[in-house]
This record gives sequence, C-alpha cells and structure tokens, in this order.
Amino acid sequence: MSVWVDAHAPLDERKFDHDREEVLERASVSGVQAIVSAAVSLESCHATLKLAEHFPSVLAALGIHPQEVGDQLPNLDVLQAMLQSEKVVAVGEVGLDFYWDTTHKDNQREIFRFQIRLAEKKNLPLVIHSRSAHQEVMEILHTERVHVPVVWHCFAGDARELKEILKRGYFLSVGGITTFPKARRLRALLRNIPPERLLLETDSPYLSPQPRRGKRNEPAYLLHTAQCVAEERGTAVEEVRECSFNAFMEAFPGSRRFFA
Ligand SMILES: [Zn+2]
Repeated sequence: MSVWVDAHAPLDERKFDHDREEVLERASVSGVQAIVSAAVSLESCHATLKLAEHFPSVLAALGIHPQEVGDQLPNLDVLQAMLQSEKVVAVGEVGLDFYWDTTHKDNQREIFRFQIRLAEKKNLPLVIHSRSAHQEVMEILHTERVHVPVVWHCFAGDARELKEILKRGYFLSVGGITTFPKARRLRALLRNIPPERLLLETDSPYLSPQPRRGKRNEPAYLLHTAQCVAEERGTAVEEVRECSFNAFMEAFPGSRRFFA
C-alpha cells in the first residue's frame, strides 16, 4: 500500500484561513493522504499543533525557522514541551538562511544547534532549511554528530551539494521548483537521487508547480511535481508514489503508526 505524502507544507499560513478544510479535502481526493505541516516560529508551532490535532491527515514538524530568529532568543522550553504530542513527527524547519537577512547569524547558529540537540534528545528527524548557507549547515550537522534522520527540504542545490548530502545519508525533498522551465539543471539531478532517499513536497502555499504557477500552492498540486519526477527519471508515476512513500516512512519513522 502506498499513498501520496506531501513532506512539507506550512498549512498554518494565513492564506489557508478561509478554506483550509476544502484544501485538505482536495488533497485527499487527489490521493495526498498525509501532509507534514512545518512550523516556523513558536506562534506557528502552536497553530500547527492545533491543526495536526484537529485534522487526521496533518502531521506536525515543529521548530524555529532561521529567518524567524531575531535579537531575542525564543523560549525553547515551550518548543520542547510541544514535541510531546503524538502528531509531532519531526523538528523543523530549522537551519540557516543567509539569503535575505544576515543580521542575526550568530543567533541563527545557536538556535539551529539547540534544535538539533532537541531532535536528538527526542529521537525525532530534522527538517532542514538551508539557503545561501550550504557549507555551514553541513558543518554544523557534522560537528553536532547527528544520528536522527535528516530531511533536506526544498532541495535546489547543485551536483556537488547533492553529492555531499547523499554521502551523509540524508533524505532530499523536492518541490515545485523542479517543474520550472528554467530548472533544467536541477531536474537533471533528479536522476542521481536514489529512489529510497527522494521525498516530494509542495511547500504550500509557496512555489506552485509550473501548471499552477502564480497561484496559491496547495498539497493536491503535489501530483504535478510527481509527474515531472517520473518523466525525468523515466519511470511510471505509480513507482514514484511507491518509492517516495517508502522513503517518507524511513525519514519520518514516527508517521508509521498513522498508516498502520
Ligand atoms: Zn524552508
């Protein structure tokens, strides 16, 4: 048995406030039976947890996004307490982002390290957000001696970065970007990812795949990315579903009980 799983979509976003239930219904009709809703701040962790506890198909990844880190360090005891919930399957999204705002680099690093330790302590996988910070994210994961599964969300790197990520045994999650006409180089890399390490995501409401570009993204559109992956790899779309589902189970072991 396999179903489509959206490995990353911040469903607590305001853009879903008026029709979240319909969005989840459309996902279900399309065969997307589980969605990992990833939080970005403490406030968003609370909202995400609420959603996960309310909707059976929503699983939660709780963490502080690097661009949400400011002068003040958030109260991470609160985060730790929330990780107890049954529906939490990962710590994330966490990492470093030096693309827009680099004022709080040291705080970003500190919060990232703290959350890695939290994931290790709770034996939860880590969902990584990395932008303009590849080498340093890799370095921190190395020095922290991470043992839990690592999922590299929204992978959009080059061949060298991919090689490094695969060498470490991490999982890669690819989204709508891979379907963009200009993403030829990224698409070509899809063939180098072993099927047991490849996950699919939408990152809804952002980064809609090509046929829906310019519109709000939603988990049902995962199938456009899946179709693109299947074409690029020269396999049937059902095979992509099977493999990405199995990879998801390995990457997020805590989600297995929801598919029993
Ligand atoms: Zn991200």
